[in-house]
Amino acid sequence: MALLAPKCDRCGRRTRKTQEDKPICEACAEEMDLIVQAGYEVDRLCPVDGTAMKKEVAHMLVIDRCPKCSGAWLDGGELERLKEGVQMEAVLATTRGLTSPLI
Ligand SMILES: [Zn+2]
Ligand SMILES: [Zn+2]
Repeated sequence: MALLAPKCDRCGRRTRKTQEDKPICEACAEEMDLIVQAGYEVDRLCPVDGTAMKKEVAHMLVIDRCPKCSGAWLDGGELERLKEGVQMEAVLATTRGLTSPLI
């Protein structure tokens, strides 16, 4: 018999995975982990105006976003993942004006 899997608490996709008794899909669980990890990192300062940047997670990448100039920055690890050809366009669409201190 086919019971419908519950919907992910975060994105609404059907999933059988749960975390703390809430249905959450694989992708969201991974993203949540990233957010938790990012929380332990020290906030970086915007290289343009020196404002402390906020961490955002988009498409499985942690992005530092400056609240002042809206610049988005990636750290080395994330940049490597982009070079591997992952979702560059999706990330660009999310961040608008992506810049990296490493280029
Ligand atoms: Zn989800
Ligand atoms: Zn800035």
